[in-house]
Amino acid sequence: MTHNDHNSIWAKVIKSIHSRDGGFGTSDRKPFGNGVWASIVKVVDQMHEKQIMPLGSMALHVGNGHNVSFWNDVWVGDYRLRDKFPRLYDMESNKECFIAERWVEDQWVWSWNRSIRSGSRIEHQLMEMLAMLMNVNISDTDDKWKWEFELDGIFSVRSVRKIIDSSFLTSGNIVTRWCSNVPIKVNIMMWRLMWDRLPTRMNLAAKDIDIPSVLCPICNNEIESSDHTFFKCDTAVHLWRMLSRWCELNLPGFDNTSSMLSWLESIGVQRRRILEVILYTTVWCIWRFRNGVVFKDSTMKKSFIFESIVINSYHWFSSRCKKHISWTLWLQNPMLHFFV
Ligand SMILES: [Zn+2]
Repeated sequence: MTHNDHNSIWAKVIKSIHSRDGGFGTSDRKPFGNGVWASIVKVVDQMHEKQIMPLGSMALHVGNGHNVSFWNDVWVGDYRLRDKFPRLYDMESNKECFIAERWVEDQWVWSWNRSIRSGSRIEHQLMEMLAMLMNVNISDTDDKWKWEFELDGIFSVRSVRKIIDSSFLTSGNIVTRWCSNVPIKVNIMMWRLMWDRLPTRMNLAAKDIDIPSVLCPICNNEIESSDHTFFKCDTAVHLWRMLSRWCELNLPGFDNTSSMLSWLESIGVQRRRILEVILYTTVWCIWRFRNGVVFKDSTMKKSFIFESIVINSYHWFSSRCKKHISWTLWLQNPMLHFFV
């Protein structure tokens, strides 16, 4: 798109007429008129609004940061930094700066239009932002936009067609419903799981990608398919059991994603609202743990998976729910919220 191929002639033309980002997504500068480009952007915006294709479907993978706007692009977390940290944005002297102008020789370099008082709320925001930025890896590679729905990250009309169809049509047991109580990244991951598009070793091998082993990196006993990772691997089975106990539910043993989703469809709406968050979070945490094992990142230990399911599901649900959700009650049994 305009970002990955930013030197192509048509990208240059679009950008010179319709601003650097072409007016997509959260851009303030929408294309004007009724021309071809304006219509394309309008259709994409409508798909975002109707939740057919959530914002974040095209995720920015930051490389050297030369083409990514520090404040105006969504490149860390789910928000633009200007929206998340408005006071800091207000103090920025160059509001259009790129990441590469703020990350110089391996450190963050700021340019504020006035000084930050120590102990002030602005300093507090800066600390919070720095904590977020600690997870970012700036490298020498080019910045890339990845289509989050496919294994290879390549955008295609066919893939979009599939998303549109799956939000209107039912295919077997699979219905695409975006769960509004968890972040977009979790929804996208669930969608990829439903269509078996996660880069499990079995899927990578099927794509002829050279990998050291096709065995599950967690147990080393079976081929790593998504059914195995999320439902049959010992670690997963153990987690589902702990979850049953925590929610005081008799969860049926799920064999695969569609059996989990059909079960979810079969329960009452109120209970489903909470359980959907918990099941999605469980899947998300298992995958994070699995990636930690594969990429030798030891921040997520096996003994912490359950804890992180409890914490993340609470955090995601309570921040999106209008009602107050009690942490103590959540710890005890999240389903109790259904009765109070
Ligand atoms: Zn396993």
